[in-house]
Formats: sequence, structure tokens, C-alpha cells
Amino acid sequence: MSNLEQRPTETSAGGATVDDSPELLGPREVPLGGPRAMTVRRTLPHRDRRMVGAWCFVDHYGPHDLTGTTGMDVPPHPHTGLQTVSWLSEGDVLHRDTLGSEQMIAPGQLNLMTAGRGIAHSEETPAPAQRTTQRLAGVQLWVALPSASRDVDPHFEHHSSLPVLDVGGVRAQVVIGSMDGAQSPARAYSPLVGADVTLDADGAGLLPLEASFEHAVLAMEGDIEVAGRTVRFGELLYLPPGPRDVALSAHAPARALLIGGEPFDEHIVMWWNFVGTDHDAIVEARRQWEAQDERFGTVHGYDGPWLQAPELPNSRLKARGRTRH
Ligand code: MN
Repeated sequence: MSNLEQRPTETSAGGATVDDSPELLGPREVPLGGPRAMTVRRTLPHRDRRMVGAWCFVDHYGPHDLTGTTGMDVPPHPHTGLQTVSWLSEGDVLHRDTLGSEQMIAPGQLNLMTAGRGIAHSEETPAPAQRTTQRLAGVQLWVALPSASRDVDPHFEHHSSLPVLDVGGVRAQVVIGSMDGAQSPARAYSPLVGADVTLDADGAGLLPLEASFEHAVLAMEGDIEVAGRTVRFGELLYLPPGPRDVALSAHAPARALLIGGEPFDEHIVMWWNFVGTDHDAIVEARRQWEAQDERFGTVHGYDGPWLQAPELPNSRLKARGRTRH
């Protein structure tokens, strides 16, 4: 997925840890663009917090009924300096990228694209006859690459088999990183974790945490109690480092996404679909995309034009702290 905002705000991240209490981050509705724009709920970057570990972007969407619509349709667009994590709870999405990858994903499978120095991709709902369902729900996440890995060769991974942990009433599928010895095969470039957590009606359990990580829990389906706080559908609860586990429970069946990682101490600039070290890196990436430079390559098979970058702001993009406090 892409940041299709016509006037994307400059966001920068990195810096010192200041905050040490749980905080509830509400979503904002953002249209993905196009004549029948799909709306997503964005909780990162947030006014009050830009990152959780290396996780720097959280879009949550659906459930949508796609009957009679084209569904998701994100034209070819570039990325640098980050990984995209595509994860569905319902539906099908077809990914194409400039490496030649063409991959359909289904719920419980991971599409992980490492942009490194540069890649472009499209993501779309397949044609009606190719769909397994008319419903669509899921998340699109970005993970910032640390400077040592920011310019790695772009690559794409699809994982259809991921480990599952059963913790007394709570089931966690480990998408990336590890939890209590269950290790995802997905490649990560900084210490982090991502897990899809499901609870049955009146389900409750303790999910193990890495004490040095900060974490956040997104309520993907239903409402969920997290460390004694109610997290309503679409909200993200930030949990500072320290605890070795977190108590989760739900009255009705619920689903959550747990993300976490070591606090990301580097300064980065995020603008549109790029993560870069500084203003000049972003300007150069934008210029090369607009020129259709070979840095990004060509997405083959997508029916339609590529996505143009918005105008840069008049001021220089600055790298600031990872929180806004
Ligand atoms: Mn994208």
C-alpha cells in the first residue's frame, strides 16, 4: 500500500526515549485515493508518537464489502529505506513489484517487501472472478531500516507458514521476529516483533514480551482489554519498555496486532513513501521516481499509470525525535 495523501505531512523520527506510560492512540481516517477511494485508519505516524520500535507506519482497513467494486487499487509507487508488511484478516491482495514478483496473499500469510535502496510495487484486489471472497480487511505496516541496512538490495519475501503460539486462551501467530521461542522466518533488520493475536469470547491470557522492547497493540477486530485498558476497534495502545508480559482479554471474539521493538534511536526522515537519512536523500529519491530512473525499475502487469509523487514542501525536511514530546 502507499501513502496517497496529496499533501503528505513531513514526519521524522528517532531520538531519546521520554515517555514511560501507556498511551492510547486514536486513528485518523485517510483516503487511499482514486474515484472510489478506500479509506484506511492510520495510527502511526501519530500526532503524539511516530514510531514503535522500527515500526513507523500502521494503516488498518476494513472490513469492506467489495461486491460491485474494484476494491483495493494502489498503482505502482516507490519505496526506499523501509520494509512493507502486508497482512490480511480477510480477502485477497495481489502484489507486483519491480523485481518481477507477482504474489497473491491470503489471510495468515505474509508479504514482506524490503525496499532498501529502492523498489516500486502495486497492490490490488484481484478481478471478481479471481477473488475467494468479496470481503477485505487487513493492515499495511512499514518498518524503518536502520542506517547500516538502509540501502540494502531490494528483495521480496512471501511466507505462507508462520509459527503459532498458544498461551492459555490467546493464540498468537508470529509474523516477524520471535515470541517465546517461536521464530518467524521473515527477515528483520533490527530487533522487533509482530504478531497476530486472536481471542475467543471471554478469552484471556498473558502474552510474553521482550522487556527491552516498546510495544503497541492495535484492535483489529472487536474491542480488547490490554493491561487493564480497553482498546476499542481501530485504536492503538502504546506500551513502554519494561514488562515481561501483557494481559489480554476480550468479552466477544477479538483480534489484535502486537508490534514491538527496541526503541529506534536513529533520526530518520519520512516523507510520502520514502524513508531517508536527510532532506537531500528524499529529494533525490523523489526526482528519480518522477524521472522513472532505473533505481526503481518498472512494475509489469499492472493495468494503469504509475503514481506521481506530490510536491515537496517549501521548507527543508528535518529529522526530529521519534516522539513529538
Ligand atoms: Mn507501498
